[in-house]
This record gives sequence, structure tokens and C-alpha cells, in this order.
Amino acid sequence: MALIVQKFGGTSVRDAERIDNVAGIITSAYQDGNDVVAVVSAQGDTTDDLTAKAAEVNQRPSKREMDMLLSSGEQVSAALLAMAIERMGFPVVSLLGWQAGFNTTSDYGSARIKKIDTSRVKKELDKRRIVVIAGFQGVNRYGDVTTIGRGGSDTSAVAYAAAMHADLCQIYTDVDGVYTADPRKIPGAKKLSCITYDEMLELASLGAQVLHNRSVEMAKKYNIELEVLSSLTKARGTIVKEENSVEQMLISGVAKDDDIARISIIGVPDKPGLAFKIFSKLSSKGTNVDIILQSIGRNGTKDISFTVQKDRMEDTIELLKEYTEKLGASSLVADDNVSKVSIVGAGMESHPGVAAEMFEALFSRSVNIQMISTSEIKISVLVHKADGDRAVEAIHQKFFES
Ligand code: ASP
Ligand code: MG
Repeated sequence: MALIVQKFGGTSVRDAERIDNVAGIITSAYQDGNDVVAVVSAQGDTTDDLTAKAAEVNQRPSKREMDMLLSSGEQVSAALLAMAIERMGFPVVSLLGWQAGFNTTSDYGSARIKKIDTSRVKKELDKRRIVVIAGFQGVNRYGDVTTIGRGGSDTSAVAYAAAMHADLCQIYTDVDGVYTADPRKIPGAKKLSCITYDEMLELASLGAQVLHNRSVEMAKKYNIELEVLSSLTKARGTIVKEENSVEQMLISGVAKDDDIARISIIGVPDKPGLAFKIFSKLSSKGTNVDIILQSIGRNGTKDISFTVQKDRMEDTIELLKEYTEKLGASSLVADDNVSKVSIVGAGMESHPGVAAEMFEALFSRSVNIQMISTSEIKISVLVHKADGDRAVEAIHQKFFES
């Protein structure tokens, strides 16, 4: 007998029919003799709808009251799911985050899970009950309800699996796994049977929104094997696990991120300390910088370019405008008409030549590269936004379709 934690996202419990479907998945795992803990998200767009409702009565509600409100979405889906399981004739109990033992920090809206007291859930499982837990929420040291950040119920599930030393943690969602590219855009995209934690983390941050990043970090830390799969098909999903147990693929995916802007400081005096000054100024404002490129100095000046998230562009320009003048730079240029296209693969570490192949693919479609950055398992290029889709297509074809 195994202990399985199953997480069901908002689309999987959208309406009564979907709830019945999920109840079927849970009860069949239970009938196979497993202990089952299910963690649920709010139905469909409930969390967004509740946020809109709040705005109708108060434009600036306190974060505490927001958590009071938003956590109700998961309470509804947990209770409804338990009722469906009950109707099918199985023993079941639904629990809110605090009842399941989620103790969090007090930061309403973005609380961190500190400790999980699993005693209540263990007691329920000992009675051979199915346990349904409201995800996304916990309780802080004041005894108040907290939420752990949008999309957080993946993290609730993985944290619970870690605390219970579960044998398997399944994340049921509306896609049936992790693909080599966005399957809605690239018809030849293939489902991966396995992927490493690090690859998944890179892909998630590149806009392949399958799993909440924190949940993958947590799974990696506690070595919890994850399976991402659809609640609507019976197909096998994608396993996310430790590197040495994954059959190494050279490249596991191509992703595109449009949520990005490039900023260039032109004609910076070519002397030590300026990069330090510029980037500490940005980090003091909490702005994350991604690709950085510095030209070789010429005539006593150099150019420094970097990318930021699109919604930080205006702030960054504002912050740097006067400052670059003070530094003696000649101008500041910004462009949000760009896309970042990346390939990710744990295998590239031991394979030279991947970058060259990627650039060849881009060249074959006359895509111009503005910036390049590399890490052990990732190569990213910045291209004109109009070239973004073509770039992904070309690279995907080169690595996966030949
Ligand atoms: N219901 C929350 C949200 O929409 C949590 C989740 O879905 O994971 O952000
Ligand atoms: Mg949701």
C-alpha cells in the first residue's frame, strides 16, 4: 500500500461534472489499496472573481481580509469534492489548510509554509478515510488564515507529500504533461516522459506555465517525484525527478518569453565600478536583471545592455535616466518589442556544439540575434518579437523534428 498525494487544479474541478470525474480518479486510487490525500484549488476562475468582488467594496482591502476572502474558494471545492466522494459511497473528510496542519509565516497573500503538523491527517488515514485538503492556504502564529501566493496549491500538495513522505505526488492539470515546446503553437511538440527538476525550473521561469516554480523547488529539495498529468485523459504524464534517474536528453525543450524588455545604456565611461553601481541601484529596487551584455570599450566608452521583466521597464528607465547622466553616459534606450527564446537541457553540459546548432537554426530563417546568454543547462537568445515564433519553430525543428 502506498501513500499518494494528488493535486487537482481549478479547471479539473470547474463544475459538478468535473468534480465527479476527479472523485472517480481519487476513489480508484483508493480502491487500489492506497492511502489518498487530495489537495484542491478553487474552481475555475473563482480566485479572480473573488478578487474582483473585493475591488467592488474596497479598492485597498487589507491583505488579511483578502486572504480571508480568497481562501474561501478552496474551501468550496474541497467540500464539494468530498460530497461527491461521499455520494459514491467512500469514507472521506475535507479539511481546511489549518486543520491539515499548514503553519505559515504571517505575510498575508504570500505566506511561506513553515511547518506542517500532519497528525490530524494521519489519524484520518488510519481510519481509512480519503482526505481532501483545501490548497493555497494555511494559518499564521496569530491564528489567522493566510494564502501562499497565486497558483500556490501545487506547492501545498508538494509540501504535504514531503511532510508525509508520500510515495508519489501527482499534479493533475489541464495539460497532459510537459512538452518540448508549447503544443498549441508547435504541432510537432512531443510530450516528455521525464524531465529533471532543474530543467523544469528553467522551463517554468521561461513561461512554460505547467507547475508553480516554488513547488518544483520544494520537490527538488525533498526529492519528491512528481507526475504532471491531465485529469481528463487516461494518458501517462511527465515525471519530474532527480537528474541521475532521468534518461538524459540533449535538449528537453524550447520556450519563449515575451514578457521582457531590453534596456541599453549607451556611452558609459569605460572605467571600473560602473556596472557595479548600475546594477546595485536596480537590485535596491528589487528589479531582476536577466541577460546582461557589455560591449568592449572603444574611445573610452562602452555600452551596457540588459533585460528586465516588461512591467519593470518604465520604472527602470525612470530610475536610470538621471543616474546615467550623472555617470556620464550618453543615452538610454529601451525596447519591449523583443522575445527571449531559450533551449533547456541537462545534457548540453557534456555536449559541445549545441549553441552552434541553435544559432544555425536561427540563421536558416534569417532571425537576427540581439543578445545571447548561457548557463550549464540553458541557452537564451533575445530576438525581435516579430521573429519569436519563427525562432521557436526553427529551433524545435532542428532538435526534435529531424
Ligand atoms: N486558487 C489559487 C489561484 O488561483 C491557487 C491555485 O489555483 O493554485 O491562484
Ligand atoms: Mg486557480
